[in-house]
Amino acid sequence: MISVIIPAFNEAENIKFLFERCVAVLQSLQRPYEIILVDDGSTDDTFKTAVALSERFSHVTVLRHNKNHGKSLALMQGFDIAQGEICITLDADLQDEPEMIPLFLDKIEEGYDLVNGWRVDRQDTYPKKMVSRWFNYLTQRFFDCPLHDINCGFKAIRRSLYKKLYLRGDLHRLVPILAFNMGHPISEVPIRHQARLYGKSKYALLRHRGLLDLIALASVQATKTRPFHVFCEVAAVFAAVAFVLFTIWVITGSFLSSVRYWRLIPIVLHLSMIWFVFVATLLPIFGLVLEIIISNQLQTRNWRNELCNQRVSSPPQPDELPKPDPL
Ligand code: UDP
Ligand code: MG
Repeated sequence: MISVIIPAFNEAENIKFLFERCVAVLQSLQRPYEIILVDDGSTDDTFKTAVALSERFSHVTVLRHNKNHGKSLALMQGFDIAQGEICITLDADLQDEPEMIPLFLDKIEEGYDLVNGWRVDRQDTYPKKMVSRWFNYLTQRFFDCPLHDINCGFKAIRRSLYKKLYLRGDLHRLVPILAFNMGHPISEVPIRHQARLYGKSKYALLRHRGLLDLIALASVQATKTRPFHVFCEVAAVFAAVAFVLFTIWVITGSFLSSVRYWRLIPIVLHLSMIWFVFVATLLPIFGLVLEIIISNQLQTRNWRNELCNQRVSSPPQPDELPKPDPL
């Protein structure tokens, strides 16, 4: 079964066309399917329109958030109730074309757990494309992830992965990274992209939360298995900077203090040095606390099992096979 999950926030004008196109594509696949629309607390007619569509088309479920809780939680609601072996996540704004769904399914059949869309000719404003380009660049550098368009909302995900995802905050932008970090095979397909015809984008141009999520995830990733080591290494960098500031202060301090307009510089150097020493002292303590928590609670047998995705044992040797009954 294919489950199509559509998060929608104030998309009343779009969803009628979206459903018609989705149903046409899904019917042509001749596989069981369901469409789950999660109305994320819309204040327009999205819910009313979706309910009318659920009466017109079969295999449709509509969920409604009591208020706007964000795209990540809307997707989580869909993942919770989806029954498909494969789920497709699709924005409601028709910027991505439902007709591309078969491309995703073909790629999944090649053995991937997640297939991400890649909007090669993205139809958004230039500043938005630039912000996205930077986000993709940073993500590729931080995580060694080979995908080109991490934040594309159009994806196909196997059940073994989507049932395991835990999206909070704005983590929907980093789903491929979560999958990649968990060791799932991921890939991408180039797709067409359209400009928004109705409604407007729900995200400000400066998606600073995406960047904050990126930093948070990179920190979680870096400190997951050996926090004490990582925190001590970072502390060493802070200590080195403190040492450099100290050296500059010793060499130039008395000269700078004697020049009227530069008198402040040694004070700033001194204060910065104290701050770097302070952070360098605190970091190993945090690392140690995390290490204690992790070793006592987190790195359990279940957690280790999650790290292996295959197990092969040698077949029994002929002399180990049970002896045939002489009678
Ligand atoms: N969306 C949502 N909740 C939100 C914000 C957005 O469900 O709080 C949905 C929105 O209706 C759309 C998808 O997430 O279906 C992507 O949003 P949008 O098109 O505004 O993002 P953009 O394409 O500008 O990145
Ligand atoms: Mg959009």
